[in-house]
Amino acid sequence: MPPAAAAARTTSRATISGADSSAWPEWIGGTAAVELRQALRTGDLAHAYLISGTKGVGKHSLALAFCQAICCTNRDQDDPSQPCGSCRECRNVAHRVHPDVEWFGLAEQQMLSDKGTASSNMSIETIRRLRGSAAMLPLEAPRRVLVVDDAESMLPPAQQALLKTLEEPPPKVILVLLTAEAESLLETVRSRCQRLVVPTIPEARIVSELQAQGADHDLAIDIAELSRGRMAWALEAFQTPTLLEASRKDREEAECWLRQSRYEQLITAYHLGERFTKHRDEVIATIQMVVQVLRGELLTVVGEHVEPAGEEAPQSMTARELARAIAATLRGLADLELNARPRLTLETMVMSWPDMSHR
Ligand SMILES: [Zn+2]
Repeated sequence: MPPAAAAARTTSRATISGADSSAWPEWIGGTAAVELRQALRTGDLAHAYLISGTKGVGKHSLALAFCQAICCTNRDQDDPSQPCGSCRECRNVAHRVHPDVEWFGLAEQQMLSDKGTASSNMSIETIRRLRGSAAMLPLEAPRRVLVVDDAESMLPPAQQALLKTLEEPPPKVILVLLTAEAESLLETVRSRCQRLVVPTIPEARIVSELQAQGADHDLAIDIAELSRGRMAWALEAFQTPTLLEASRKDREEAECWLRQSRYEQLITAYHLGERFTKHRDEVIATIQMVVQVLRGELLTVVGEHVEPAGEEAPQSMTARELARAIAATLRGLADLELNARPRLTLETMVMSWPDMSHR
């Protein structure tokens, strides 16, 4: 991936803020929002939540809305789960400067490190800082909320350190863990949290939301296709041309890989396998994009076959071939998530692809 594309991807998270937008965006569906709002209404809040979902699906927006609902001084009279979204407290939460809402993630860790060095793991030092923060009493809000972003990046020792806070939760503190991979957390950590899942959203829903935000029809469809059901990502890509461009480039690369000869495909698989250890997210993003391109092809083929089947293209791929390739690629993705031997996984995956070099 070119450096610009990589930069767009890594800086994207910082701009997901939800600032100035109303809390609990209507598109945040699923039971996660419903359950959190119900707990806010009854006051029956858990001391720890584990919110999981794909990166860009809207976990930050959900956490922000929850924190605003805790801190807002101008809540809806009839529905205490509804913050106003515009008071000083709500704005401070959205801008991440509220004294009772603290974020602990890789970005914050990097900002606080002496040399500003990035790490792909949350350090024990960061968790110690969290534990110190958990011991403090709220300054303005009725409770303090500590958000642990990128929770999957905690190695077991860091998770063990966090466990102490989860086992003996300080009063008036709520922990909110956000993760793209709940399964990579220790069972002891998971079992001490109330678990919520933020689902992906159908593309049509994303298209209509983007259009409501002012995107024209073609752009909305393009972004929705690239979003893979991740609404927060789609909204951000609409506002951030560099992010959108990086994603389009990823798609081009995926298309190019699929259209290579088998020999070239295997060479690309080899190189991606070599890159996997250090650039795991990028390689996985490329393969997710391959799945998307294959799904697009499948839709086209199925669409074509709605017409009376023609004999004119004996070389064209069949829906079955494509479905098989999609299944094998998804299996490859799952193996990579488990850190199975990446080069071998990628090579096996490529061997399942239909010949698309003539397309
Ligand atoms: Zn408010």
